[in-house]
Amino acid sequence: MTTPGTLGPTCRCPKPWPGLIARVNGTYYRMIASTEDGPLSRLHLARCTACQAPYAGAWRLRVQHAA
Ligand SMILES: [Zn+2]
Repeated sequence: MTTPGTLGPTCRCPKPWPGLIARVNGTYYRMIASTEDGPLSRLHLARCTACQAPYAGAWRLRVQHAA
């Protein structure tokens, strides 16, 4: 696991990256860390849900599976 940090201050939470959130078109969405960038992660910045640190790694939208 690599440590994101190229965009500045990284997460300093006791448990790093307890959650990721990104604002897309004015709405906040929960994100999950991913091994590859999705279409949204190239256009938007994800942040730590707790300390708001910018997340430099790849992420994607958390898909809500219906049953
Ligand atoms: Zn944090």
